[in-house]
Amino acid sequence: NKQILFKGYVAGYPTEEDMVQATSAIGSLKVPEGSAAVLVKNLYLSCDPYMRGRMSEPVTKSYTQPFTPGSVITGYGVAKVIDSGHPDFQAGDLVWGITGWEEYSLIRVPQVLVKIKYTDIPLSYYTGILGMPGLTAYVGFHEICSPKKGETVYVSAASGAVGQLVGQFAKLMGCYVVGSAGSKEKVDLLKNKFGFDDAFNYKEEEDLTAALKRYFPDGIDIYFENVGGKMLDAVLLNMRNHGRIAVCGLISQYNLTEKEANYNLFCLVTKRIRMQGFIEPDHKHLYPEFLELAVEYIREGKLVYVEDVAEGLDKAPASLIGLFKGRNVGKQVVLVSRD
Ligand code: NDP
Repeated sequence: NKQILFKGYVAGYPTEEDMVQATSAIGSLKVPEGSAAVLVKNLYLSCDPYMRGRMSEPVTKSYTQPFTPGSVITGYGVAKVIDSGHPDFQAGDLVWGITGWEEYSLIRVPQVLVKIKYTDIPLSYYTGILGMPGLTAYVGFHEICSPKKGETVYVSAASGAVGQLVGQFAKLMGCYVVGSAGSKEKVDLLKNKFGFDDAFNYKEEEDLTAALKRYFPDGIDIYFENVGGKMLDAVLLNMRNHGRIAVCGLISQYNLTEKEANYNLFCLVTKRIRMQGFIEPDHKHLYPEFLELAVEYIREGKLVYVEDVAEGLDKAPASLIGLFKGRNVGKQVVLVSRD
């Protein structure tokens, strides 16, 4: 059983050396006698920015557990059940949920797995549009931003797993949507594939405040925050009164040893802006309604999804690190096995 192990706690940017390849004996491909565990073969693994937080030495309590040095890295994935001691799962079932960065995983608490209902949609989508990032975009936009038709919406890291969906949800709502991303290729995707009204490469802008003023001369009603730092500062100055900001993530800060201060937070007061943080796990009850809606939209072509698929378990460490360098174009997935 080929595996990727977490070597030890990381400070600053992670490197491939922080994740090491190993092989363990897998035995009979059977669940131990009398156990309620499920043995799965991993098909797709997900690379997600929150995994960086799990690599840091725990100093404060977080909603995610740190990885254990020397143990297999865990994260979202899509898998096929090979053997099951649990009444809810049978050999042959396709599932998504928390699994290991390895060929086969013994899942001791199968409640972390969800049976895949629709298999006419690419299975990898359950790591993205139909999985955790999809629900994040849906909840973050519809529940936290309280959008109204005609409002102006700005999305940062807009071509990524979450951002590409937020932009499309905002268009479906009748909003005016602008996104930013870190390359021409991504900006083209935003405009031509996802239907954003406009988009720009933030790396080419010397003055982000002025850039946003150009795209939103009358200000921003809703900001979907994925990056933080200087971007958030510039956005605050461009917000309209009574604006809403969904704080989904602050990826620009995850690898900094000294975090940047945000001086413009005072705009929250003067402009009476609602800025709200949220975590996807608090909104799991909305998954069934989201799944039905998203599947219908995918089938009708109203929602599209771009993935960046790396082939082979050995590509997983570089793919995860790539998120923090902007190397992924769309949702980063690792293909371990096609069946
Ligand atoms: P993406 O697919 O968007 O990948 C990450 C992207 O972030 C990169 O491609 C890069 O795009 C951008 N990025 C990386 N470093 C920086 C930087 N220093 N400054 C600006 N942009 C940067 O990831 P996700 O869609 O999965 O996640 C997006 C955000 O949502 C993250 O902050 C993540 O932590 C958060 N999140 C929060 C959840 C919640 O429950 N609250 C759940 C899921 C995600 P580019 O080329 O544009 O720079």
